[in-house]
Amino acid sequence: MAKKQFKAESRRLLDMMINSIYTHKEIFLREIISNASDAIDKLCYQSLTDESVGLAREDFRIRVTVDRDARTVTVSDNGVGMNREEMESNLGVIAHSGSLGFKNDLEEGAQDKADIDIIGQFGVGFYSAFMVADQVTVVSRKFGEENGAKWESTGADGYTISDCVRENAGTDVIMHLKEDTEDERYSEYLDVWRLKELVKKYSDYVRWPIVMDVEHYEQQETGEKDENGEPKTEFVSTTVEETVNSMVPLWQRGKSEVSDDDCKAFYKEKFHDSEDPLAVIRVNAEGTVSYRAMLFIPAKAPYDFYSREFRPGLQLYSSGVMIMDKCADLLPECFRFVRGVVDTPDLSLNISREMLQHDRQLKVIATNLEKKIKSELKRLLDNDRASYETFWKAFGMQIKYGVVADYGMKKDLLKDLLVYENSFGEGRISLDEYVEKMPESQSLIYYAAAETAKLAAALPQTEQVRDAGYGILYMTDDVDDFVLKLLDGYKEKKFCNVSVDDLGLETDLEKSDTDRLSEENQALLDFMKETLAGEVADVRLSHRLKTHPVCLTTEGEVTLEVEKYFRSLPGANAEKVQATKILELNGGHAAFAALQKAFDADRDRAAALSKILLAQAKLIAGVPVDDPADYTELVCGLF
Ligand code: ADP
Ligand code: MG
Repeated sequence: MAKKQFKAESRRLLDMMINSIYTHKEIFLREIISNASDAIDKLCYQSLTDESVGLAREDFRIRVTVDRDARTVTVSDNGVGMNREEMESNLGVIAHSGSLGFKNDLEEGAQDKADIDIIGQFGVGFYSAFMVADQVTVVSRKFGEENGAKWESTGADGYTISDCVRENAGTDVIMHLKEDTEDERYSEYLDVWRLKELVKKYSDYVRWPIVMDVEHYEQQETGEKDENGEPKTEFVSTTVEETVNSMVPLWQRGKSEVSDDDCKAFYKEKFHDSEDPLAVIRVNAEGTVSYRAMLFIPAKAPYDFYSREFRPGLQLYSSGVMIMDKCADLLPECFRFVRGVVDTPDLSLNISREMLQHDRQLKVIATNLEKKIKSELKRLLDNDRASYETFWKAFGMQIKYGVVADYGMKKDLLKDLLVYENSFGEGRISLDEYVEKMPESQSLIYYAAAETAKLAAALPQTEQVRDAGYGILYMTDDVDDFVLKLLDGYKEKKFCNVSVDDLGLETDLEKSDTDRLSEENQALLDFMKETLAGEVADVRLSHRLKTHPVCLTTEGEVTLEVEKYFRSLPGANAEKVQATKILELNGGHAAFAALQKAFDADRDRAAALSKILLAQAKLIAGVPVDDPADYTELVCGLF
């Protein structure tokens, strides 16, 4: 029988399959099963209008069998089948769907491992059998025809087609596995349990039953007794036909059919989480782009969530077949914590990664999902504060990073999701809630930044604001400063950092009082500035203080928090990012009176007091004192 040659581009693809160094060769099974499923789809569809098909819906199945002696894995279906001509045109060339895109990749000379990964991710259909098999035989009979046909190939040297007999319509794809090598154990695919696992992993939601003969061992009594008079037992193996896949995915069922508990159980099993998700988002979209999605907001961050290792993305299915495990293009970066599945019938299995990225439908889906996730989070915030607090503890940081990422591209999406600890009491509040609480007289949104909310609340700079009856938000993350800078106010209210900005609380009279006091004590202030040169840029009388003697404030863009942030970065040039620090004094405090007195009588003492007060201002602001020994010595010198 004459061997026919594959078309050029098929041969190249085949070459790649045969020599594939791709590690996920296991996807061959998914590809062959999905073809079987497509073939059944076709015949089932035909049966709706053609009585001669003689099969009911429940008669269709895909069977996976193993012959260990012959070293073959066979996938059989009772679908529509192929005749000789169809074998020729379908199996002899790459002319199908996404394979074309892959072919283009090949022509651009993509030959390294990264490109081969694409095969693994998306498959190239039928030819993937050659990743594990050195000989592939396809026996098929087309529905409505008498004769069967047999296609056989050992790979690159071509294929043969001959007549054969097959009892009914359908197809068997018989794969003779390659010999094991040092690197690759192809024999693993002769193991029924391994195959079962692969079906579960990739083809669980194929809508036709995938059946396998699975051997079970049972202990049975032999009927004889042993020396103690106990019944003798032996292990007997029984082979049971099992349907391995669960067929109908949860997300394909109607909302009323699937309870919340079902969804949660599904989440825990699928995404290996021991905790219930905080929320389940279900989408069933029909129209120009149809898809179903089931998304979950986890209750805690995976251990590697904030590391580079974490790979975000949603599982992408096309009609029940998994195309991609983590499709990052479906999720905006700011919601990378969301897990879940998206199923759209309009995608081809063989689509390449590049095509996927530019896929218009996928973009539409991603945009819709972004909206859904946002509104679900907002719903939690408004109606289920306890869950939202849990969410915030796990992923609040991600939301903040989301605001600052890409120059604030997503800030409008995210800003009403931000919540902060605050002076009103327990629990965090949103910017909306803060603005809601603002009395008529208040025009600024006040915030204090420190390591913890407790430390922020203790800042001397907060006193006046609190006395005025206004609330204060506590900012405790490095990223907060950047977030507020990008937001540049909320609902037309500007933010006011109590350690930096004018609090806007003083009357003109109070202001002129302070100014007068400053003038009168100019010599003292200059002396202090000189004494503390290098540590602070200026020493001033304060508009902010009530009962505390001093506080540390800053001028300009770099706040203490920004400085701290840069100091914490490994290898960063922290010296370059320094806040311009100002020591502010409370003119009405006894400490100031003591300073004045010392300045007139004993300059050394005045210098010591200045240094002590600066150290105190630093400590309370959470800035380390450079020389603690020096500081304690100064304090002891007072006695
Ligand atoms: P795709 O599935 O994207 O069309 P494949 O390379 O997986 O590409 O399959 C090529 C073609 O071979 C299919 O389109 C189909 O026409 C045919 N084919 C493969 N397997 C079967 C089968 N089990 N039954 C009928 N036709 C099949
Ligand atoms: Mg296919």
